[in-house]
Amino acid sequence: MTIIRQLPDNLVNQIAAGEVIENPAAAIKELVENSIDAGAGCISVTLRQAGKSLMVIEDDGIGMSSDDLKLCLSRHATSKMLDDDLLNIGSLGFRGEALPSIASVSRLEIQSRAQGEGDAWIITAKAGAIADISPSSIRQGTRITVKDLFYATPARLKFLKSDQAEMMIIKETLNRLAMAYPDIEMRCEHDDKKTFHYRSETLLERISSVMGRDFQSNAMPIESEVEGVRLSGFASLPTYSRGNARAQYLFVNGRPVKDKLLMGVLRGAYMDVLPRDRYPLVALFVDLEQTEVDVNVHPAKSEVRFKKPMIIRNLIFHGIQNALREHAKTSAGLLPNQTVHFQTKIAQAPKVNYALPEMDFKPQARIAEETQIFPIVDEVESNDITPDYPLGSALAQFHENYIVSQTKDGIVIVDQHAAHERLVYERMKDNYAQSGVKKQILLVPEIVNLSQDHVLMILEHQSLLNDVGVVLEAFGEGAIIVREVPAILADRLNIQDMIKNLADEVEDIGTVDRVTEKINYLLATMACHGSVRSGRRLNQSEMNELLRQMEETPLSGQCNHGRPTMISLSLDDVEKLFKRR
Ligand code: ADP
Ligand code: MG
Repeated sequence: MTIIRQLPDNLVNQIAAGEVIENPAAAIKELVENSIDAGAGCISVTLRQAGKSLMVIEDDGIGMSSDDLKLCLSRHATSKMLDDDLLNIGSLGFRGEALPSIASVSRLEIQSRAQGEGDAWIITAKAGAIADISPSSIRQGTRITVKDLFYATPARLKFLKSDQAEMMIIKETLNRLAMAYPDIEMRCEHDDKKTFHYRSETLLERISSVMGRDFQSNAMPIESEVEGVRLSGFASLPTYSRGNARAQYLFVNGRPVKDKLLMGVLRGAYMDVLPRDRYPLVALFVDLEQTEVDVNVHPAKSEVRFKKPMIIRNLIFHGIQNALREHAKTSAGLLPNQTVHFQTKIAQAPKVNYALPEMDFKPQARIAEETQIFPIVDEVESNDITPDYPLGSALAQFHENYIVSQTKDGIVIVDQHAAHERLVYERMKDNYAQSGVKKQILLVPEIVNLSQDHVLMILEHQSLLNDVGVVLEAFGEGAIIVREVPAILADRLNIQDMIKNLADEVEDIGTVDRVTEKINYLLATMACHGSVRSGRRLNQSEMNELLRQMEETPLSGQCNHGRPTMISLSLDDVEKLFKRR
């Protein structure tokens, strides 16, 4: 008796679909890759409900003959494996799995006209049942229509995210392909609204269309080659960075791939020029012999394995470091005299004066008393130490950011920027809870250029942003206009930077469901931008005022990024340091 049986084809296809077609983005990726492999010059993607109920992918590629059309839905049928060598793959597809997988779960329709042929054909499939082909009227290329992607496996729908979240994954997927093929015109439309339209353009133009117009003027070209492995692409100048690592793209032989180690290599390469919590924007292209890389290690082909990974990492590391050095040379070369001047000044500087900072800080703009965290306090003669305060009495400020204060039994060192950021954040949360964030109208509204993706994302969260005090509107393609900001921050704010960071933030909070959490993220981001930067001198009364406010504020011992805002050393600790004990 046998109890083992061969599974029917359709079930096998559905099992494959489980791996290959994890979400709408995965199906779209497969279909667009097919259009690219077909040599398309223009690809257009039309979606409803983030592709869940409808996706239409049209191209002007080589198309399929009636015979090919009949074959393309059979499992493991492909036109792309020319010499049956898995280690020599020049196309994006090669498994012959995508179309049969999609056909097995959805309602699928493929119309195609092979280049140079008079007739066009259509084939349809419903949950894997394939109907006969019949004539179609399509004029060129291929149009694939997927209705109800998970028609046969509706349980899958439960594992999908909201339309908005699925759309983010789709855009990300399409953007990756768009950067790999800048000469292909690409369009995407969702629920009758344009998501993007990239015309055929140069690589740098295309990367900038995706990452934001400013990238173009803030990018360094990267070129290098070692042992037949070529690296090219663009990386941002250290002055142009982001709050997350999402804009770091790697392409291997024209295929967008995710390489977990890329972020580490980039961190290393930018280490001396970027703070730890900032990330460069890069799009890097590695091209090497097909046989040096295995693309068949991931069902969605989004990871690859290099035969010699160290060569690739070194190539990227040194490629970027060289570009950074070149860049530093040219920008330093612009100001040779000043640099020398600056250095002689340091060399001749008299003994450093550690005295208390004098009162040199002038209020540039008057802000309403109630919105102030750093009230401008006149210096009062108060040398009478009042040691009862938990954070003690301020003695001095050093390196224009740290406050030393003497407490009853030791000293406290406060990071003024971090502390202020926390105070602003707590005050904003408080305001928000009580009466909503107070806004201030900008005398001159500010226009901020962003990637069209970020514009749409910001606009999707317009009302949330309004709740946290930022009033803004669309301002044409790739820009928004900011009209109001939270009053508490109004005079200190670098609006450009803040909006760019908010865009990064809304990208991240797409997956956070609780509104309060979203609000807190946004408030924290703004607090960081509106806080007193290091480098501002405070007089003694101002320092004491900061300490008093910290005592009253919950969690003031930690800045919004989780770093400590102060450290305290007891006299005991200090004596131990001096080995008195
Ligand atoms: P693969 O891409 O791995 O070959 P697919 O299942 O994605 O497998 O596609 C099967 C075959 O159908 C492809 O090899 C190709 O010949 C044909 N095909 C699919 N989409 C297109 C298209 N848009 N234009 C022309 N041919 C296509
Ligand atoms: Mg394919």
